[in-house]
Amino acid sequence: MKYISTRGQAPELSFEEAMLTGLARDGGLYLPAEIPQMSHDEIAALSGLSYEETAFRVMRPFLGDTFTDEEFRAIIARAYEGFGHAARAPLKQLAPNHFLLELFHGPTLAFKDFAMQLIGQMFEVALKRRGERVTIVGATSGDTGSAAIEAFRGLDAVDVFILFPHGRVSEVQRRQMTTPDDANVHALAVDGDFDDCQALVKDMFNDFDFRDGVRLAGVNSINFARVLAQVVYYFSSAVSLGAPQREVSFTVPTGNFGDIFAGYLAKRMGLPIDRLVVATNQNDILHRCLSGEGYFKGDTVPSISPSMDIQVSSNFERALYYAYDQDAGAVAQLMDELKSGGFNVSQGALQALGESFDSGRASEEETLATIKSALASSGELLCPHSAVGVKVAEQARQAETPMITLATAHPAKFPAAVEQASGVHPPLPPRMSDLYDRPERVTRIAKDLAAIEDHIRGHIAN
Ligand SMILES: *Cc1c(COP(=O)(O)O)cnc(C)c1O
Repeated sequence: MKYISTRGQAPELSFEEAMLTGLARDGGLYLPAEIPQMSHDEIAALSGLSYEETAFRVMRPFLGDTFTDEEFRAIIARAYEGFGHAARAPLKQLAPNHFLLELFHGPTLAFKDFAMQLIGQMFEVALKRRGERVTIVGATSGDTGSAAIEAFRGLDAVDVFILFPHGRVSEVQRRQMTTPDDANVHALAVDGDFDDCQALVKDMFNDFDFRDGVRLAGVNSINFARVLAQVVYYFSSAVSLGAPQREVSFTVPTGNFGDIFAGYLAKRMGLPIDRLVVATNQNDILHRCLSGEGYFKGDTVPSISPSMDIQVSSNFERALYYAYDQDAGAVAQLMDELKSGGFNVSQGALQALGESFDSGRASEEETLATIKSALASSGELLCPHSAVGVKVAEQARQAETPMITLATAHPAKFPAAVEQASGVHPPLPPRMSDLYDRPERVTRIAKDLAAIEDHIRGHIAN
């Protein structure tokens, strides 16, 4: 299995190389040269299996010879053993034919644990075998960073530096990043917004001297291994509701397009998904784009669903690659135009996107109202991101097809908004109830590439 760049100018890599690299050297994102297919019978055979066994069967064809079957089963087992729910990704019913896929039972209470815990274990096994060390650098709007720190803390072969926008993450998110005391964990509070953090990480990857000098590895949602880990719960949940005999639709609270792109891959692998609905908050570049208004950056407006507060949605490039019929030159040109503000999507590509994706947006008021109404009608306390999803799903839902809305974080991660909306204070699960008492460790830093690169060079253990 070979991996190719969406921009067509980077070397083809194995799964292992693509995983350890993250961003391609031509600025593009890696994708498998061909998408493995699962037959009707293979999907039907997933019924009743554990999450771990489903994960093994869904992901195995993407890995080539990176891991033996035995290694890979052990990696999966370790990745998910710390989750607080035996089903890992349990489904709950919200309303007739509307289901909530709870993805927040991992160690940092957001869906990013699914991918990050797996990638942590995969990095450890691969790097030990190679006798190498890497420096992981990531930008976060809150949840990626804590998930990465939790997945990589204490590992010998890795230093992890996380850039987050100072003052723009929730207190729980910040404390999850600043309280781990492992020497290989470094939290950097950047004076800027999430797009600044993301741009700084991209710039570090494009600074080849730095990149090679510190052996940079990326675990942002651009890393294909992360996308792959997220494909699994589309299969497990759809099969629970009767796939492959029955079609299902998904609504996904979306920021960087990683999670919903995993759903698109599941569909391309053969899972019978009818609609994939992109749900955005007021930062709605994706909704505008899918509605035919082009992809033009605005200013990021802080919201009560901060993990979706972005304007440039990096994984959307992967969807564009397929929408443009795998024309890497066309994608490279669009990404060039994006540097000067944005681009229009061709009529053909827009139509191709429309075959799989719908979209909607929820305002701040609608999000708060949905937290309140869902609690009243189903007893479920939603985090603001999940509420954006539920609101958009209610508008997009068609009576005959079951709708699964992804609940991307636990309400206790965003207690202020949840309490404002519902009057209920969502408590942290008992296993992390001392979070507010642990000492914090963080470096505040300017949004300056050279300063951040110096800091990283000075703090890696070599
Ligand atoms: C990261 C995140 C999202 C957005 O996911 P993408 O893969 O970036 O689209 C939504 N909700 C929560 C809680 C998140 O942490």
